[in-house]
Amino acid sequence: MPELNERQATMLAHILNNIRPDWTINSIITLLSKNRTIPSFADLTIAAITKAKDPTCKTPAPIMLPGKHWPETTRNQIPTGPECPDHTGHPANTCGPCTIDIQLGDRPPHLHGKNLHQHKRNPPQPGWRNNPTPTGSTTN
Ligand SMILES: [Zn+2]
Repeated sequence: MPELNERQATMLAHILNNIRPDWTINSIITLLSKNRTIPSFADLTIAAITKAKDPTCKTPAPIMLPGKHWPETTRNQIPTGPECPDHTGHPANTCGPCTIDIQLGDRPPHLHGKNLHQHKRNPPQPGWRNNPTPTGSTTN
């Protein structure tokens, strides 16, 4: 499948921003740059303009989801992006198990399609063992 180039992304972002002034050019370019493998520029443009004309579509993100806004011939070739790090076989941007986790309260919404356990605590400062015990501490 072809790759969207920067010029195409910029042109499409300007078209969409003209249709939907509430969708900023930067946010559209960010979305497109994360989903550069596309069935064709023409099909992406059709899908994007269809979503831009949909007043219930509040952000450009759903452009990249599968759906009837894509032409029928390429509907099953929609870019899925990288795989969810937590759910093998599920694309990160549409991961169903992540959605269920969020609904159950087991996953914060901002970690949809991301590794739930990637946020480790910061390592201690070098030489922390030599630091004096803080005043008022009852340890030791
Ligand atoms: Zn997932």
